[in-house]
Amino acid sequence: MSELSCNAEELLDDSSWLRYGRQLLLPELGESGQRRLQGARVLIVGLGGLGSPVALYLAAAGVGRLWLSDGDVLELSNLQRQILYTSADCGKAKGELAAHRLRQLNPQISIQTVAPLGDENWPTLLQPDGKPVDLVLDCSDNMVTRQLVNRACVARQIPLLSAAVTGWQGTLALFDFRHQGAQRHGCYHCLHPTQQEPSLSCATAGVLGPTVGVIGSLQALEALKFLAGIKTAALGRLILFDALQGNWRQLRLSADPRCRVCAHEEEQG
Ligand SMILES: [Zn+2]
Repeated sequence: MSELSCNAEELLDDSSWLRYGRQLLLPELGESGQRRLQGARVLIVGLGGLGSPVALYLAAAGVGRLWLSDGDVLELSNLQRQILYTSADCGKAKGELAAHRLRQLNPQISIQTVAPLGDENWPTLLQPDGKPVDLVLDCSDNMVTRQLVNRACVARQIPLLSAAVTGWQGTLALFDFRHQGAQRHGCYHCLHPTQQEPSLSCATAGVLGPTVGVIGSLQALEALKFLAGIKTAALGRLILFDALQGNWRQLRLSADPRCRVCAHEEEQG
């Protein structure tokens, strides 16, 4: 065995084999997939109902570097669906609370809080240590942030896994802006060309905790597959979940050739 492959074999230490043993057994993941996860760098925007399961599962699975962006303070009404937090946490900053909880869950990874994403600071947030992140997970709860995250990811050609829940309806889509080629699947703005909120938002339509739990878990699952180099069904598709009927649907996405966010980037490319 060559020295190089010996070293490669040694990259997972004993505690990693113990901690991640159950997922290492999956042949599609294996040791090489685990090493990819441990080298991965991810920005999570929003640490609410979606961001809670997303951050917990990504930290538990050993994603190497997580940056957490959320400017909110925890309120009592959040606890019904935001499973990162406890009643004693009310009134405290969600970002710091989440980082503390995730460090307790997995001390082997790096977890840092960053400022809420805004029009001015997005270039910094997408490369928080000077290098672009591998994936942005949009777990935000409003259309303005989702559109901003999308514009930022298109501009920097960073893959985006976007999810949302309104009432009983959950959606999820994965956009890879690095190389869409002839099969362009467009961007979030192609799908939602308006900044306006849907007529019913989470705050007005109501929501059950497990509905965001299902979509957040799916978002974490697709993120882990993407980061580990496993083919993901969500790429270029819109996955729709009707929690009331228990129905799942998938739609293939296609780019809007007049999209003012991604069509322009394509011309430049
Ligand atoms: Zn677009």
